[in-house]
Amino acid sequence: MESKNWSSRIGIIGALDLEIESLVKKMDGRREERHTGFVFYYGKLRGHEAVVVKCGVGKVNASMCTQMLISKQGASSIIFTGVAGSLSNELDIADVVISTDCIQHDIDASALGFERGRIPYTELSRFESTVELCDLAMESAKKAGIRTRQGRILSGDQFISDKEANAKLRVEFGGECVDMESAAVAHVCTLNNVPHVIIRSISDKADGSAHMDFPAFCAMAARNSFLIVDGMLDLIGEEPLSAAKDAIKEKIRTVPDWPKKGIMFRDITTLIKDDEAFSAVIGMLEKRYANASIDTIAGIESRGFIIGAALAARLGMGFVPIRKAGKLPAKTVSMEYELEYGRDRIEIHEDAIKKGSRVLLVDDLIATGGTALAACRLIEKLGGKIAECAFVIDLPDIGGRKKLELEGYKIYSLIEFEGG
Ligand code: AMP
Repeated sequence: MESKNWSSRIGIIGALDLEIESLVKKMDGRREERHTGFVFYYGKLRGHEAVVVKCGVGKVNASMCTQMLISKQGASSIIFTGVAGSLSNELDIADVVISTDCIQHDIDASALGFERGRIPYTELSRFESTVELCDLAMESAKKAGIRTRQGRILSGDQFISDKEANAKLRVEFGGECVDMESAAVAHVCTLNNVPHVIIRSISDKADGSAHMDFPAFCAMAARNSFLIVDGMLDLIGEEPLSAAKDAIKEKIRTVPDWPKKGIMFRDITTLIKDDEAFSAVIGMLEKRYANASIDTIAGIESRGFIIGAALAARLGMGFVPIRKAGKLPAKTVSMEYELEYGRDRIEIHEDAIKKGSRVLLVDDLIATGGTALAACRLIEKLGGKIAECAFVIDLPDIGGRKKLELEGYKIYSLIEFEGG
């Protein structure tokens, strides 16, 4: 999908803390501003300008917050993410509804001759979501393997919690789920001509079991909404990957016959000093590992520290250095490995890895694979599990990748150079 104007500054709203906290945590360069009781978090999400805010519960809060996002913070589109009660037998807890349109079920001027849901003296009742954003949300949900339906979302200033009210809403308005904010957000966006979509994950059945289900399932449901929003941001304006990789490759300097004759040294200093290229490398790795259930990142001295630590910070996780012998100050375990001529030794602090944790091993380059294999063994010695080994560069002709794969490790590299 092409990057359009609507993605120039994306406003993301949730009603509750837990609906926005994963996004806020993920923001790069985050800063916050307070206005009229709302806290607006500014920063970048997956490289896109974004503003995230909690609006609180109910249509007035949601309307105020949406209008401020548009008028004051310059949001070019709005995504509302969060949880809702189900109105459909087809929807289970944690399934997701992506809005086609929204109606305020509690607007009732029927005494004046307007059908329920219609804003009196206007043609407005159904607030349609932006097709392009709905498609993006559906694609993201599919990628994340989350059960999703597209349909109508109803909102009103009541927490629906009995079977009768639930059935009435379903029959009268035909909604898939009900909440207390979405239609207000959709209404404000429509009046402002701002693209929007609502992503609601089912937290309860809105049928009397809500008091029991709501706290229990809210976190799980909010997580699914988060995954879809995060995936949408990932899909926006995706550059063709091969072009982006070519651009990275161009930034790497090759120094022939260094450190000794016959070696083509692939120098990443020219890559990491470049604002865009360095950020692109870390961004690509971030994309791959954001939802890969990694617990920690280990990097191999010394260029593995640069890539590994930057990635760890982006992913919000810790970093473990694997160093040449004699450099680490506390108690270590060590491993010897073969070099072309002779042997070498690497070390890790013995308390660096939690038993059973999933570790991503990172280095700038894999050649013979000797260093990476020794590092994997060290991590395993401490009880860690190697989730994958990631490199910026692979030299396939030297055969390190094959060697590690034969040992049962998963290998990933961004680019390859032919020859040695
Ligand atoms: P190996 O153990 O043979 O896979 O070598 C990998 C380690 O040596 C990595 O830490 C690399 O930084 C470094 N290395 C090996 N060959 C090269 C090369 N041609 N260019 C740059 N670094 C290399």
